Amino acid sequence: MALVEVKGVSKRFGGLTAVSDVDLTVNAGEVHCLIGPNGAGKSTLFKLIVGLYPPSQGSILFDTVDITKERPYARVQRGMSIKMQAPSVFKELPVRQNIQIALQERLSGAERIAEEDRLLTLLNLGPDSDKLAGALSHGQQQWLEIGMALALKPQLLLLDEPTAGMSPEETFKTGELIKSFNAEGMTVLVVEHDMAFVRQVAQRVTVLHLGKIFARGDLESILQDAKVAEIYLGK
Ligand code: ADP
Ligand code: MG
Repeated sequence: MALVEVKGVSKRFGGLTAVSDVDLTVNAGEVHCLIGPNGAGKSTLFKLIVGLYPPSQGSILFDTVDITKERPYARVQRGMSIKMQAPSVFKELPVRQNIQIALQERLSGAERIAEEDRLLTLLNLGPDSDKLAGALSHGQQQWLEIGMALALKPQLLLLDEPTAGMSPEETFKTGELIKSFNAEGMTVLVVEHDMAFVRQVAQRVTVLHLGKIFARGDLESILQDAKVAEIYLGK
């Protein structure tokens, strides 16, 4: 079943068409990777899906409901949660409090503390929970932000370059984490550059280039496509 359907969506910024007549389906239960060179329109497409930009054209459905005109907050209430490309944790607050802020809409008291502990452990941040978020490594800040997105218990988790700035070990761990959320039923749409990571997590891949869908399918068939190698891998 399609959880997200992007239909004929375009986004223009003045004279520049960042996203051009894109059709994209994210099926419930899958990990879908969106790849493509810098400037391809990946982050713009993310912001369109979560409602941070209105599309210039086209429509977006979530769980069969047309949400094209809904505000981001309404989409979050429907079950979407996004981790943007630039990390945006509260650096001047302790790690645990960042998670607490994200949880406070949903849980309180002992239940909230138990969920804080669960998320901190899941993200390997338990020993650092009293540190200021700004004192964490870049990779740990990415995890913390993933934790804040998870705190909303989303049906659909959208991650824009979650492994940017991570070591190969941290990247691998992130992939395993994503697979564990997915195994519990969460649908994930992730923008990623790291091909080893895409191979690790993706069930389906969409390639965006110059704002348009360039290829889609499983990773191996996409990597064998000479045109994809040319635009994406620079060969
Ligand atoms: P990607 O995430 O694939 O690197 P982006 O979606 O960030 O690509 O950008 C796609 C194109 O749209 C780029 O040419 C970028 O400069 C342009 N763009 C993105 N956001 C804006 C904006 N808010 N205003 C004007 N141009 C933008
Ligand atoms: Mg981007």
